[in-house]
This record gives sequence, structure tokens and C-alpha cells, in this order.
Amino acid sequence: MPASRFFLRRDHVACLMLGLAVLLLVGCQTVDSRRDTPFWAPDIGDAASRFELAKRSQPELITFLRRMPKGADLHNHLSGASYGEYVVTSAIEQGLNYDPARHKFTDDPAGNNGVITAEKLIRDSSELAAYYDASSMRGWYPASMNGHDHFFATFDYLRSGDRGKAEMLAEVVARNAYQNVTYLELMTSPYPKSVRKAVGAALISFDPGDLESAWAQVQAVADDPVHATATADYLDSLEREADRILHEQHDMSLLGDDPDVVVRYMPQLLRKLSLERFFVDAVAAMMAIRDEPRVVTLNMVQPEDAMQSREYFATQMRILDFLSQRMGQPPITLHAGELVLRESPVEPMRDRISRSVTQGQARRIGHGISIAWEDDVVGTLATMRERGVLVEICLSSNEGILGVTGDAHPFMLYRRAGVPVSINTDDEAISRSNLTMEFVIAASRYDLSYDELLELARNSLESSALPGAGLYIDRDYGRLREPFGSVRKTDWAPSAEAQELLDNDLKLRLQVGLEREIVAFERSLATGFRVTP
Ligand SMILES: [Zn+2]
Repeated sequence: MPASRFFLRRDHVACLMLGLAVLLLVGCQTVDSRRDTPFWAPDIGDAASRFELAKRSQPELITFLRRMPKGADLHNHLSGASYGEYVVTSAIEQGLNYDPARHKFTDDPAGNNGVITAEKLIRDSSELAAYYDASSMRGWYPASMNGHDHFFATFDYLRSGDRGKAEMLAEVVARNAYQNVTYLELMTSPYPKSVRKAVGAALISFDPGDLESAWAQVQAVADDPVHATATADYLDSLEREADRILHEQHDMSLLGDDPDVVVRYMPQLLRKLSLERFFVDAVAAMMAIRDEPRVVTLNMVQPEDAMQSREYFATQMRILDFLSQRMGQPPITLHAGELVLRESPVEPMRDRISRSVTQGQARRIGHGISIAWEDDVVGTLATMRERGVLVEICLSSNEGILGVTGDAHPFMLYRRAGVPVSINTDDEAISRSNLTMEFVIAASRYDLSYDELLELARNSLESSALPGAGLYIDRDYGRLREPFGSVRKTDWAPSAEAQELLDNDLKLRLQVGLEREIVAFERSLATGFRVTP
């Protein structure tokens, strides 16, 4: 072998070594400089790599995720979303007094059995702290107390303050606008009591074995247009008042062409009351969905582990199935599988989710914690995937009420099985959380990427109960319906044809809005992330 060739090889090796050293040095410097760089610094990559930097600490995640477009909160109980702090203010405005022994506001005169004025309450920091502790999970100590019992007791303390529904609505809208949430489906009663009373009065005798007879008794009332008008009037006045408060206190709006957040409503059927009452509530709820576009779906509330919930479940599913066929198959959403062994025998968990889907006609379910105890887990998951039944995930709530956290939560099981999921608050004020914080928990606990978080945001609007064709083809977020194919391009503007479609399809409008918000968010990330008025 000629010597020159040998030396050439040694030169090559030396060159390679030198090159490698330079690369390593540059690489280390890049890593070092990125480690000390905020995620909004210039020239450090796209939104996805900035998000990986934001994962270094919770405050950075909050900074990133508070402004990231999140779509919708689909699982939000209005009464659990209003903070005790504001309940106290409402109680003072209404001249209520406060009973420290029961943690409740009252009409009883001050001085009677230790009752004090609400004004005195706010000057007594320890008494005020005791109220906040009792009326939220702030006062729940996992090692010594049952979160489930503490949670369900909070509603009585909150309700005693008699905070108006319009005030609560304005509070929740403003909080969600601040977090770039554009759509809410709120659980609250969206019609006057007169509707339920009229249905109840028509139902003279109720036999759960003869639903045809029950329906025959109430059908004329259900079809009476007077109730549709009453519901529309009720919502008009609620929204006008909430809109007034929003303008006055936050310079925001709920009404008009460009509301800060679009709100739709979801009546609640009570699991624990009689089956007759359940039937009446279900008829009233389905009337509202049929007659009033702002009422889009219904739900069932109260603890699933309660004795009555267990005993009545099969009949309740039969009632929903029966009425759904007679009242235009309204979208149905059900809490299902909010159960753990600590709170419930295993038997109800064997089919709670599957029956809610197949018989209760649920298009979405809330929580779905007990999925692993279903008789046919794989079949149930397959049905949910095929039908696109979304699971509303509520991480803080599940941790507080059920003690379910980390890998005890089925979040990843649903994702691996291809079942759509969304992130939700459940009762944000009681949990002392909000939608941003729920995204923070999900992202850090399950190491989710930016793209995965956008998928969760898109899932929320795609599985809303709104009618309309929407933006995506076959739930594939990579395939956009025409003429919206280039909606993710920076300089997109709607054509006349696109504008007409947008004007007639709220779901499409919200989805296009989300895509445009994502474009704006990423541009802001690349240009300093300042908030411009
Ligand atoms: Zn709930």
C-alpha cells in the first residue's frame, strides 16, 4: 500500500474528529443557550419546539397554554364554576346574613344562634377562610378526608349565597374569554320552572313499565308552542342581563355578531329523584332542545354511586331511549363511569359506559373512569371509536372526587384505543382550577406534544352538540372541507361563497375561528408573544 494513501486516511480521520468536535461544541452551545432562553425568544424554532421549552416549569406552561386556543369546554356545571369569593359579594348585595356553624348564608336575623351579617363575615378572615374551605376543594385534605363527600357538600354552601344566574354566566364567560376559549356548553336549567310543572301536571299516573301511556299523557303539553316561547323569553332575559354585566365589568359581550364566547345550554336530569320526575325532566329537556337552538343537548347529574342512581339506571336508560325516538333523537350527553371501587361496588361498572352509549344514546360521555371494569372493554372502546363518542376528561375533578390520578386515570387508554377525548373543567371554581390549568396538568402528566394539545382543542369543537357540517372531513383534521382548504395560511380571507357558508353554520364558524386563532397564536409566538390591545 503506498504511504501517501495511508497518510490520506489518517488525515481523513483527523478531519472527521475535528468536525465532530466542532459539531458537539456547537450542539452543546445550542442546548445551553436554549436552556436559558424563554420559549418566546426569537429564532428558536416553531410552536411545537417552543412548547417543549415551555414544559420546563409550570409557570412557563401556564404562560404558553393560557393563550393557546383551546376551543370549547364541553363539561362545565355553571353552579360549580362560580367562585365562593363572588358568592360572598352577591350575598352582601342581597342583604343576607351568615351562619358560621353551618357555613351558609341565611335570612335569619343577625345575633340569632351566632348568625352574623355578611359584611361582618368579610372582616373576619378566619371565618371567611372557613367558608371558602367548605365551599370548594380548597378545604379538602386528601390524607384525612373523603374528597367525594367534601365535593358534593360544597353546592349547598354555594347555593345559600343565592348568586344570580346572569352573574355566574358573566363570570364564566369572562374567565373563558381570557383563556382563549371560544365556546361553552353549560350545564344549567335553561327553561322556566313552568315548563316542567306543565309536563308534571299532565302526567297523572306513571308506570315505568308502560312508557307509551306516560307519553300519551304528556304529548299535548310537549307540543304546545307556549313552552317554546317561555323558554326563549327565559334565555333572552338571562343573556341580556349577562351581556349587560359583561359590557359593564369586562368590556366584553355575549350577544351580537361577535360575542367573546358563544354559549349553549344543557338541561340536567337528576339521577336520584323518582323515575317519574326523571321522565318529566327528560320530556322538558327534549322539548327545549327541539324548540330552542340555544339548548343543544342534555345530561344527567348527581353522584353516580348513589343508591338511587344504581337502582334506577336501567330504567333511566330505557326512558331516554324511548323519548329520544319520539322527540327527534336529540343529542344526548351523559356522565358515565364516574365510579371507583372506593365509592361503589364493581357491579354497576360492568356496563355503565356501554349502556349509556348503546341504550342511553350518548354521543359524549363525561369522565368514563370505570371503563376498565366494563364486561367488554375492547368492544365498548371500539363502539365509541366507530361512533365518535367523545370522553370529556376532567382531571382535577377526578383527582379530588374519586382520588384518581396519574396512570390510574384512563386518559391514555382512551387515546390508545382511538376514542376521542377533550379536556374539561367540570366544576372549575370548586376544584380551584380552570381550562388552562387542566391543559397544563394533561400536558405535563402525559407528556403531550403541542400537536396533541391542538388535537384535543379540535376534538372539543368537533364533538360539540351543535348541528352543522363543520370544517373537517370524516373527523380528519388534515382534511378541510372546500372552500376552506387554505384556512391555515396566514393571508387567508373568506371568499363570498365561504362567507355564506360561515353565516349559516355556527359549528363551521367556530372551527374556522379556531384555525385562525391558531395561526394568530403561532405568529405571536414567533414575534415576541406580547399582548397587543
Ligand atoms: Zn360533571
